[in-house]
This record gives sequence, C-alpha cells and structure tokens, in this order.
Amino acid sequence: MNLLQVVTNSGEFAGNNKRMNFCPHCGVSFARKMMRKFERQQCGECGVVNHLNPSPGITILVRSHDGKIIIGKRTESARYGNKWCLPGGFIEYEESFIETAHREVREETGLEVRIKGIVNVVSNHLDDLHHTIVIVLIGDVSGGRQEPGDDLTALKWIDTHLHKSTVYAFEADRRIIDCYFAGNMKILPIDDRIEKLCVD
Ligand SMILES: [Zn+2]
Repeated sequence: MNLLQVVTNSGEFAGNNKRMNFCPHCGVSFARKMMRKFERQQCGECGVVNHLNPSPGITILVRSHDGKIIIGKRTESARYGNKWCLPGGFIEYEESFIETAHREVREETGLEVRIKGIVNVVSNHLDDLHHTIVIVLIGDVSGGRQEPGDDLTALKWIDTHLHKSTVYAFEADRRIIDCYFAGNMKILPIDDRIEKLCVD
C-alpha cells in the first residue's frame, strides 16, 4: 500500500491544518468526526484522535542594567525575515518553559539571563499554519558574551526611541515592548516551590 500523508492548509476548516490521511499507529484512513464544535480526525481502528492544538513557545524581554531590551534581526530566509523580534522559540518536549527561555536566550544572543517572572501569555493566530501560545517572560542579563546566533543575524539594545522606529516580525512583540516602555508592566513572580527557576 502506498502510504502518503498530506498536510492541508486551506479549505473550510482552515485552522485545522495538520490533517493526516492515515492513522500514524495503524495506517488506516482517518475518519472525520465532530468533537464539540470542532471537526477532528479519529482512527476507526484504534480510536486515536488527531488533536489539533496551538504550539507552545516562550518569548523573553531581556533587560540590560539601564533598562534597555535586546531584540534580534531575523535571517533573510526565515519567515518574516529581516524584521526584528524578541528572543524566544518553541518549547521542546523534554524542557520546562524556564529551560526553553535559558536555551533560547543563549542560542540567539549568547547571553545568560536571570528570569524575574511572567508578564503575559498571548495567543498568536499568525496564519492558517501557525497558531502559537506564548508565555512572555522578563529577565535580567546575568552573564555570557553577546553574539547573534541561531536564526538571528544581528542584535540591538533598544530604548523607547529606537523601539518606535523598529519594524517587528510579530505584532505581539511590538505590543509587549510598548507596554514595557510605558512603565506599567506587571510581573507575576514564578514561585520556585512550584516551578524550578534554576536550571543546570
Ligand atoms: Zn489507529
């Protein structure tokens, strides 16, 4: 049998874009099923449901000693290339979101960061293929050697003036930084008894 998985990203259920032709466990054709008000796929053989969920990620406001924020320029070939964004990325399955924050800051800026808390959680319906739910953290530089890496080609520290003239890849980043420079950003501390802040 010729098994072919096709990912569909258009049509009546445009948000349901990670459809598969076959159950990844059994290889039989998936059936469509209404689950509450959403159409999903379920295997008639083993019952597994192809759940569709937003992808979790983190974004982090890294503060300098004088209150500036670091942003990075995305490589030309990246989605939303040559525009600027806050450091961040997707949470790997093996990581806590705190570990993701440390890793992403290290990979993208070369810096180490001391995480101070959560400033918000945002849902980004970027397009049919990308729906992310992003935990927005804030932290202070604690070490490292600044160097752009991963999918960033340049870094800059911005004050409120530079922020206004920056072209951002993501509208959510602009709103978050607006709020930061407005000076009324609330920070939810992360209770270390519940979620470990220190990572190895
Ligand atoms: Zn199955």
